[in-house]
Amino acid sequence: MDPARPGAVLLTIGDELLLGDRVDTNGGWLAAFLTTLGFRVHMILSVGDDIPAIHGALSRAVEVAAGGIVVVTGGLGPTTDDVTRGAVATWMGVPLEEDPAILETLEARFQQRGFATLPLPNRRLAQVPAGAEVLPNSAGTAPGLALPLSGKGRGEGWLFLLPGVPVEMRALMEQEVGPRLTRLPGLRLAPLPSAVIRTSGIPESALAEILEPLAEGTPGILVQYRPSWEGVELRITATDGHDALESFLARASHVLEPWQYGGAGSSLAGAVLARLEALGWTVAVAESCTGGLLGARLTAVPGSSAVFLGGVVAYANDVKTGWLGVEETALAAHGAVSEIVARQMAEGVRARMGATLGVSITGVAGPGGGSPHRPVGTVCFGLVDADQGGVAEQVHFPGGRDEIRERAVQHALRLIDQAARKRTKG
Ligand code: ATP
Ligand code: MG
Repeated sequence: MDPARPGAVLLTIGDELLLGDRVDTNGGWLAAFLTTLGFRVHMILSVGDDIPAIHGALSRAVEVAAGGIVVVTGGLGPTTDDVTRGAVATWMGVPLEEDPAILETLEARFQQRGFATLPLPNRRLAQVPAGAEVLPNSAGTAPGLALPLSGKGRGEGWLFLLPGVPVEMRALMEQEVGPRLTRLPGLRLAPLPSAVIRTSGIPESALAEILEPLAEGTPGILVQYRPSWEGVELRITATDGHDALESFLARASHVLEPWQYGGAGSSLAGAVLARLEALGWTVAVAESCTGGLLGARLTAVPGSSAVFLGGVVAYANDVKTGWLGVEETALAAHGAVSEIVARQMAEGVRARMGATLGVSITGVAGPGGGSPHRPVGTVCFGLVDADQGGVAEQVHFPGGRDEIRERAVQHALRLIDQAARKRTKG
């Protein structure tokens, strides 16, 4: 390993980790994140919510990190079993002080939830070791803390304290700690070669199943997964240089072909429009439960006018029949959320607007309107092309109204993408 890379040690805290109740996933995620930034992770330690054990682990961690960073997760919560902030303060020999800015944020947050005063245990969240910088937590209540070690008789380098809840820890690393690390004086980080692949229509677990055997065949390859409603973004990092990265990317692109649509910053809507433009195709959309979101996503891409002709929000059944030509009999027999109606909506908008492709979305976004036969989250899609070919399908999405609508738009984009890919291949 490269001795020039700054060192990092990870310390995960929580009784549940030692009881076997909970596997430490924070350690592995942080190791990949910091390796990508250019750190050499030397050690991952886990201890319970136990002050002497935390003191011992901190001393060892700082020694091994040798001027680099120590990242601690867990035990920052409001309850008495969360001892991390106090343990760190006594280890550093500094008092705990109440931070007025944190207190204010907490009070505002609890007032919003209808509390007249801040509950006493939550007031503890405002206690920070003197000299700590507060890192706002966008995903929860307990903020992160950054502490410089030099001058404290505790070695050199920096100590970061993060909440144990994995989504909060990740949000803090990505939004607050990561950007600071690249700016810290004296660390001189050289990020490892890495690349981003954006995918849609395949879950994280299925991607891992495909990529793990590939990664095993190329030494020093690290794959990080960032799932969102829009799909899974992959960050591929090579610890053994550019050649390893290129060779892995070539093989990964081959197996990910059906789902991959671009690199960092790319959007599925942009990729779809580019594909349609290359074919000389146009598209028109008919939307019910998404209320124009698909049209909005397509028109958010500059230059979309070459491909996107327009859309209609056909919410009421009368608009579906009157404007799009959906048959009353189909509506009566199958309901507005059905593959048949979706297909007729797509045909209707294609004919009315004179597009190559007609695409439709009709579904139950909730929270009301579900039935045992068509529960909330049921969405039907139609796509009709110039040869009257195409697809109609029914999908069930998880989540609340917003999530269902966003996922439906993403799915429709994927259907358009598939139709264009099929034609591209001939
Ligand atoms: P909270 O404000 O929720 O109390 P906290 O900083 O005190 O946050 P913990 O109480 O230690 O964090 O953990 C909160 C949740 O996160 C628990 O469900 C715990 O099991 C989980 N968790 C903590 N540490 C880890 C870890 N290293 N890996 C995976 N999950 C963890
Ligand atoms: Mg805990």
